Amino acid sequence: MNTRDKIFQQIDSYRDILIDLQSNLTSRPAVAPDAGGQGEYEKVMWLKSYLNKMGFDAVEELDAPDDRVPQKIRPTLIATINGKDTSRNIWIIAHTDVVPAGELNLWLSDPFQIKVDGDLIFGRGTEDNQQGLCSAVLAAKAIIDNKAVPAYNVKLMFVADEEVGSEYGINYILAHNKSLFNKNDLILVPDVGDPIGQEIEIAEKSILWVTCRIIGKQAHGSKPDIGINAARAAANLIVQADGLRYKYSASDKVFGVPTSTIEPTKCSNNVSNMNTIPGEQIVGFDCRILPQYDIIELAKDFRKICDGIEASFGVKIEMTEQQHVQSAPPTKTTDEVYIRLAQSIEEVTGVKPVPVGIGGGTVAASFRQLGYSVGLWSTLNEKCHSPNECSSISNTLKDAKVFADFMLR
Ligand SMILES: [Zn+2]
Repeated sequence: MNTRDKIFQQIDSYRDILIDLQSNLTSRPAVAPDAGGQGEYEKVMWLKSYLNKMGFDAVEELDAPDDRVPQKIRPTLIATINGKDTSRNIWIIAHTDVVPAGELNLWLSDPFQIKVDGDLIFGRGTEDNQQGLCSAVLAAKAIIDNKAVPAYNVKLMFVADEEVGSEYGINYILAHNKSLFNKNDLILVPDVGDPIGQEIEIAEKSILWVTCRIIGKQAHGSKPDIGINAARAAANLIVQADGLRYKYSASDKVFGVPTSTIEPTKCSNNVSNMNTIPGEQIVGFDCRILPQYDIIELAKDFRKICDGIEASFGVKIEMTEQQHVQSAPPTKTTDEVYIRLAQSIEEVTGVKPVPVGIGGGTVAASFRQLGYSVGLWSTLNEKCHSPNECSSISNTLKDAKVFADFMLR
């Protein structure tokens, strides 16, 4: 039997190891302080000692300072297996933080104690992003246990803070430890996926979140002439913003939602009674724009509409941007990371991969901004962030084989 087959057979024997790993990770809730948690420290320290026992050539910790959490740090781990060619790295990057459990009575079991039911492991974080984390760890374990030497250095990176914008995670690492990465490194992010495992994500839309606070003048409902109705101005603002869809009208079939989207979302309560002209109204827009458009231009268009509404309705509009992420040029299907990943997927699973784009918001965006190609892939049932989140054991082991194949190729 050749090494590759031996490694695959070994991965098939890791079911109990996977369940134990998922159990330990899930029982240490790693919720960001922005979402009311205490950060990733406990979970990451447990993982660090686990990785230390596995036999990596090195396990390093990089800490982003954060005064809001008890230990004052948000830790990231890097576990390395030295390759035949040490001038280049294969990165598999997963995040350790999870979103809160949400509505507890919608869960059929304790979100932070796993429940195993056949092929499924239930618990918060089991899919997002512990499935990706576990498949990377098990691929590395099989390589180490078989004393195989990967083609290039294998570096597993487990980052913090992904769910709330990565300021204390990958963005901190990229700002302070840029020399970790070489331009010819191969970077994989197992944090998006479909149930068949055929989609390789290569592009993300740009994101702009705009909040408009419309200030008018409150008055009695029967005397609108002495007030300034903020609700009417808000309604007109929403209608005019809708017109932006015709300016940003290009479509790209690589994306599941092929056009740019400009959606009015948040709308504040104004007055609690029927007979008062509201003096203030807040409306929010979630815009996901195809990468070829400039998001600064879109923000200017919003301001222009606000100026027009101010002039027509006599209101004042304070416009703020919550999120402003210009997406980088997509990874190309001719890039080495895409070609290698597609080969590994097809050879291990028999599925022919297709390139796709998504609505935005993974750690890959930060790398693409700096000119790196990134392949995002895993086999997911897409239960992330929902109650009764779960992860498939067989998919995790299959993904681990794909990553092991990628490391050896
Ligand atoms: Zn995730």
